[in-house]
Amino acid sequence: APEQDEAAPDPAPRSSTPPPQLDAALLQSLVTKGDKDTLVPYLQPIVSLADGSLRGAEVLARLRLPDGSMLDASNFIALAENQDLLYSITESLFRTVVAHRTRLSALNFDFLAVNLSAGCLRDQRTISLVRALISTLNTLCEVQVEITETAVSRSPQQIQSLAARLKLAGTRLVIDDFGTGYSSMRALAELPFEILKIDLSFVSEMFDSPKSLQLLRAIIGFGRNLDLQLVAEGVETEAQREVLVSEGVPLAQGYLFGEPMPISRFIQRFSNDPLQ
Ligand code: C2E
Ligand code: CA
Ligand code: CA
Ligand code: CA
Repeated sequence: APEQDEAAPDPAPRSSTPPPQLDAALLQSLVTKGDKDTLVPYLQPIVSLADGSLRGAEVLARLRLPDGSMLDASNFIALAENQDLLYSITESLFRTVVAHRTRLSALNFDFLAVNLSAGCLRDQRTISLVRALISTLNTLCEVQVEITETAVSRSPQQIQSLAARLKLAGTRLVIDDFGTGYSSMRALAELPFEILKIDLSFVSEMFDSPKSLQLLRAIIGFGRNLDLQLVAEGVETEAQREVLVSEGVPLAQGYLFGEPMPISRFIQRFSNDPLQ
């Protein structure tokens, strides 16, 4: 296509307002105000790669700004972690999920996965928060706790004892963003993880070079040899899906199957799913 006139204004500005600005003070005040509509749990489907049927969902945080716009977790979780706000955020998200319990029971799914950051894991109250979530959802689905490989590699000893307690509480543990941290094989093998989430970078790069595909296969082999259940994240294309199926990966999440969405939309969408 011919180049457009460089001096021309942007053809379709997405909005007349500047991009949302979030600083530490605003985040702090939004979280401590604790308005129930400010921190919004979105759900992203996790499906069977073979037939696309719903198996579970991951809870992903969204933040509503005073102007009504919604911020993705990638734009505020790191800041929140620096300010020690993740416990409050997690508590608020869990409260909202639990409030949807009755409507969620219309769905037929096996598990709900939640993310716990290192700071939140250090908080003594977190275990009871997770216990409460498990007991309210117990007839509905299993609770999985996702901990990033990076968190594990930074404090393997500490995660070890927390992981053991979380497992005793009745969760299954997921090692998240696998392949992006620096944990030793030994540390990983000794932790009570049962599920391995292949970081989306390995999925998005699988066709970049033969090496990329070999790397993906090595990660899959590592998980399989340790008897971990595999979940691929960031699956966006049919071609990626086919490779993952042929490599024997059972579960996946990604835009190909559904983006993170409000709980009410998730229920609407998946209670009408012909595959359910
Ligand atoms: P994550 O746990 O690895 O979550 C997956 C991220 O990938 C999400 O970004 C999701 O929206 C995005 N994603 C899903 N499917 C696709 C896809 O097909 N392609 C691409 N390119 N991206 C996809 P999000 O929601 O912005 O979250 C970013 C990170 O923030 C999460 O990464 C997680 O580490 C953290 N996070 C989110 N919610 C929470 C929370 O409640 N507590 C804690 N501690 N961390 C959270
Ligand atoms: Ca996650
Ligand atoms: Ca992940
Ligand atoms: Ca990630």
